[in-house]
Amino acid sequence: MLNEPIPFDPAHDLDALAASGALGGNVALFRQPRGPDLLRRSAPLEEWCALRTRHGVWPYGRTLEGPPAPLATVEGDGLAAAQGINFASQDYLSLASHPAVIDRAMQVLAESGPHSAGSAILLGNSRYSAALEEAIGALLHCQQVVLFPTGWGAAFGAVTALAHPGDHVVIDALAHASLRQGAAAATRNVTVFRHLDCDHLRELLAGIRAVDANGAILVVTEGLFSMDADSPDLPLTQYLCREYGATLMVDVAHDLGSMGPGGSGAIGAQGMLGKIDIVMGAFSKTFASNGGFVACSERSVRRQLQLFAGPHMFSNALSPVQAATVLECLRIATGGEGEGLRADLMRNAVALRALLQEEGMRCMGSPSPIVPLWTGSEAAARIAGMLLARERVFVNPMEFPGVPLGAARLRLQLMAQHTPAQVRRAAPLLAAAVRRALEAPRPVLRASGQA
Ligand code: PMP
Repeated sequence: MLNEPIPFDPAHDLDALAASGALGGNVALFRQPRGPDLLRRSAPLEEWCALRTRHGVWPYGRTLEGPPAPLATVEGDGLAAAQGINFASQDYLSLASHPAVIDRAMQVLAESGPHSAGSAILLGNSRYSAALEEAIGALLHCQQVVLFPTGWGAAFGAVTALAHPGDHVVIDALAHASLRQGAAAATRNVTVFRHLDCDHLRELLAGIRAVDANGAILVVTEGLFSMDADSPDLPLTQYLCREYGATLMVDVAHDLGSMGPGGSGAIGAQGMLGKIDIVMGAFSKTFASNGGFVACSERSVRRQLQLFAGPHMFSNALSPVQAATVLECLRIATGGEGEGLRADLMRNAVALRALLQEEGMRCMGSPSPIVPLWTGSEAAARIAGMLLARERVFVNPMEFPGVPLGAARLRLQLMAQHTPAQVRRAAPLLAAAVRRALEAPRPVLRASGQA
């Protein structure tokens, strides 16, 4: 069978793995296949993925049994279902298995059923979504909130509804794909500034304003970059936007709830609550559900989003269960219990980083729920991820298009409920896998360059 995994003995088989071609190639090679036959021209991509799957280095379609807990049962990646330490889920405050969250979801499921049955403007709202808008507004000190069925939709919808072909989008080089694709769909005037580089941003804004006094400029960045675990200088970024008549939008998908005083994320931590022009976020990380939002102070902007952000207008709204789940998570995250959970989460992040650094590993960014562990080469990330899965430590190896080519890494995501013992046990296994992967034989590149 094409996808049958090849048994692997790490002590002997790294040479064979390198020779197989499964460590070579990258997704970029297959992005735009050529030829008139749309149904068949993706065949090389399928062959490449199948080759990687057979060799246990395609970790992208695994399944989780049960909740995304620190100790989880994972199946796939060439392995039978196995229980192991899970650093591959984004349930930062462990709210997905919080009894109060589950109770609330079950109550509302029984009361309202599982379906929103309409987009937000066509009777898809519920009293829970109305209360959720208010709660998000209160946390962020922004009166106007629009909900979306996904964080992706919030990002893409906001950029495309607000920026037009005559406008400019100036975006951090490492911004999430939902924001970049929104920018590309909104206008051809998209300019990229070097990651977190406010001097470069200032230069670009000055250049745009020197030639275009009339177009709007939307500047886009994130509160916590999830592949790099770093944050921009938000006061300076917002100041620059004011100076050049631009509007700032900050995506807080990963930091809202999981960081900052009262769960206020990077914006609260930097003293900018109520002072950022537009805040956008997702419920899919800390808030145990799906969905997203955009928050701002102008009622007219809210209306513009409601009518012109496609994923709000033309996609079914959050279900009552999702809205009530997020509300309950917000209640916990913004209260005393949330402070305790964030302290546990940060204890884990600091400990894991320290242990990895003692092992000579390169952790990127600074303490946050995310610990990116650098490998650089895609081959090394693939090998390390595969070795770790066999040790029952589950991580997400990140390579293009999630990160730039040649900048692969393992993304470790921590939860409040990881125990210190789990972190201590995992650190040497992580370090050993990365070391072994970096020392492994170079992959064989086929003549086509594809594998
Ligand atoms: N923005 C960022 C920064 C993200 O990381 C993600 C998803 N990982 C999204 C937006 C999209 O959110 P969702 O998965 O909730 O659609």
